[in-house]
Amino acid sequence: MRPGFIFVACAMAQLMSQTAAGADNWVIEHVTLIDGTHAPQPDMTIAIEGERITAVTPSAIAHGLKGRRIDGKGKYLMPGLMDVHIHLRGGFDVNGKVDAELTPPNREDGLAALASFLFAGVTTVFDAGNRAEHILPLRADERAGKILSPRIFATGNLVTYPGSHGDRIAVRISDFEKDKALLDKHITEQQPDILKLTLEEEGWGSRPMIPLMPVDLLEKITRYYNQHGIRTTVHVSSELRSLEAIYAGVDTLAHPVIQGPVSDSFVKLMGAKKIPFASTLTIGENYSRLAEHPEYLDQPLYVASIAAAEREQLKTKTRAEWQARPWTWWMKIMTPIAEENIRKIQAAGGIVACGTDQSSGPATQRELELLVAAGISPLSVIQIATYNSAVFLGKADQLGSVETGKLADLVLLSKDPTVDINNAKSIVFVMKNGELIDESQLPLAGGKQKRRFTGD
Ligand SMILES: [Zn+2]
Repeated sequence: MRPGFIFVACAMAQLMSQTAAGADNWVIEHVTLIDGTHAPQPDMTIAIEGERITAVTPSAIAHGLKGRRIDGKGKYLMPGLMDVHIHLRGGFDVNGKVDAELTPPNREDGLAALASFLFAGVTTVFDAGNRAEHILPLRADERAGKILSPRIFATGNLVTYPGSHGDRIAVRISDFEKDKALLDKHITEQQPDILKLTLEEEGWGSRPMIPLMPVDLLEKITRYYNQHGIRTTVHVSSELRSLEAIYAGVDTLAHPVIQGPVSDSFVKLMGAKKIPFASTLTIGENYSRLAEHPEYLDQPLYVASIAAAEREQLKTKTRAEWQARPWTWWMKIMTPIAEENIRKIQAAGGIVACGTDQSSGPATQRELELLVAAGISPLSVIQIATYNSAVFLGKADQLGSVETGKLADLVLLSKDPTVDINNAKSIVFVMKNGELIDESQLPLAGGKQKRRFTGD
């Protein structure tokens, strides 16, 4: 055999072992199961064959299950976390601006961000608007098992009214009939998993007002994508625009109401209508957090996920800039208002889903902390970040809970996350699609990490 062939074969085998589904069958025994829907269940056994969960049973009556044994005694198993509102890094510059004219998308930055999600226990993300040439090839590679990544769902370019929110990474539509060909092209070429629209006249804070998509146009576009089997989500920030979007037929909201406290009737409506919405507290809170508590960047998840030089720049230059901006302190005031809006809707039976509007695994973990700070129980917050988020995506038949027949996206924890949400970071291993993630193979910006669990 030629040496070159052996090298290629070895490289292939290594890649297969990193990413291919179903390399092993697993039996996780005697674990406390937090299944995304119920209260914790002690001493459970879960079997995984290939990419799917094939048994979930009390250990006392588990028998005949085949596979490699994992002792889950004293540990906690939950579904993989989800972030249903990200904008993957690499399509934008570090300030969140689109620099399409200046540079090609940065695939390495994208891969590092995707790795940070897996490292933090996040096994599914929804990219709610990006440069299509950045996110779509990564989505294709994830689905082909070519990269270490959470499941990627994406809108590609979003759809907006000219000059409206998100305009720079959008297909711009001003007239449904006249511009329909652009929508057809978006659907055919980008195959959005969920369409993202925007309905927003606020330039935010002290920024000037911006053009707003007419509601009848929003309704036509929503209907059109639904007729192609595609769910929709919409950027909104006020109660008025949320109501207009809901009655125009959107399937989900990409943000909570953050412009002010919601009315009691809106809380009841969200409880009755059960339109899922992404929580996105982290984006507003991260400015004052950096300004006031830059030491958070020394936590292990951040050290692993952000390069040392970038962490230093955040703590010095970026921090000084953000301290000087009124925007930072405006968002600090508005975050507790958004938290209270979310808490009330959750209590009324509405469907909160976990989203950050950021682009890293630690940010998703931060979202869990902020939801608990809002007054929601840790158990409910785990449900928000798993089952509810799968409902948001329209994927609850496949993902979001630990049930027989579902895809095996799982996180094993050494400490109980229902007593302290920080324990959602006590990760023993992350499994995606029935495959244990080898952390030592993740291209994290903070450098190689030691594998936390080897399966031996
Ligand atoms: Zn967003």
